[in-house]
Amino acid sequence: TSASIIRKGARLPALPTIRDIIKLYRLRAIKQLSQNFLMDERLTDKIVKAAGKIENQHVLEVGPGPGCITRSIIKKMPQKLIVVEKDRRFLPSLELLAESTAEYTKMDIYEGDILKFPIETAFPDLKMHHWEGRRAPVHLIGNLPFSISTRLLINWLRDVSLQQGAWKFGRATMTLTFQKEVAERIVAPMASPQRCRLSIMSQIWTEPQLKFTIPGKAFIPKPKVDVGVVQLVPYQIPLTKLPFDLVEKVCRYIFSMRQKYLRRGISNLYPEDLRDELTYRTFQMADLNPETRSFLLSVDECLRIAEAYHHFSKIYPNIDSYNYRASKKIIHANYDEFDESY
Ligand code: SAM
Repeated sequence: TSASIIRKGARLPALPTIRDIIKLYRLRAIKQLSQNFLMDERLTDKIVKAAGKIENQHVLEVGPGPGCITRSIIKKMPQKLIVVEKDRRFLPSLELLAESTAEYTKMDIYEGDILKFPIETAFPDLKMHHWEGRRAPVHLIGNLPFSISTRLLINWLRDVSLQQGAWKFGRATMTLTFQKEVAERIVAPMASPQRCRLSIMSQIWTEPQLKFTIPGKAFIPKPKVDVGVVQLVPYQIPLTKLPFDLVEKVCRYIFSMRQKYLRRGISNLYPEDLRDELTYRTFQMADLNPETRSFLLSVDECLRIAEAYHHFSKIYPNIDSYNYRASKKIIHANYDEFDESY
């Protein structure tokens, strides 16, 4: 095998072969952790290329695993690379990579859960960039298990809305993999059957783009589904100033009864004693037809509903804590399952 690759002087250690990986980490264990490795360098290069210019910039990679995407990142010579990996079995091969690249890129390895990792501490040397200017030289890249990547996206969108975490430094770019169907939902335009809460939430604060898809068979072990690479660039001016959680709640109700008229989902936002009146007034305020369907709404129309809800929740403070799902004992749906709850 070509034992190492040489690029602009950086000499990287050989990637473990597929056989090594399977032997080292045991296929069964890998499957349980939904670890799917992308060992094809052309594809990992393509993901990194999709991230845009990272040369001399700051990169955080989530879930590097044995380091296939990591190597493609290193080849582009960012100034600083931080990898966050939960599975300590990968640390030795990552440490080897860090050593071999020390001269060109400072690479730090954090063992731990990305969902608990304080990204704002990751780049101590980075200066702040104006939000309403050029993008910050910060990139978040990752091929994570599907359930985590969706949850992470929601967390990160909340951080974007608050300009905290990685977005403390300015408009950082995300380039992440998702189950292909989820990737399509994230970017789904108005009137698309895939339009859902995740589309609206993503499109309020960022401009998501489906860069390309990768067939499942390119991964080892092979997942049941194909994979989409999505890039999300935060807007200079987000489409709302409303709080993230309020918008998220309203979107959840908007899309909760997608087979029915929009009125049904919206009415559930309000407690019974106020329901009819406030539902009527919400549509009036939002200037919308209650007999439309949620997937036909523009982002702006969803936000007009959220504005109305925000308005009424200030007048009637008990609305805020009202939760129709809880009142009907419907289990709180989350983003982890691939179903209507998106
Ligand atoms: N990036 C590698 C690749 O593309 O070949 C590995 C991808 S594998 C789908 C996902 C990786 O994320 C695994 O290495 C797994 O251990 C790691 N991981 C899973 N959950 C994580 C979490 N919460 N925080 C950090 N890493 C995580």
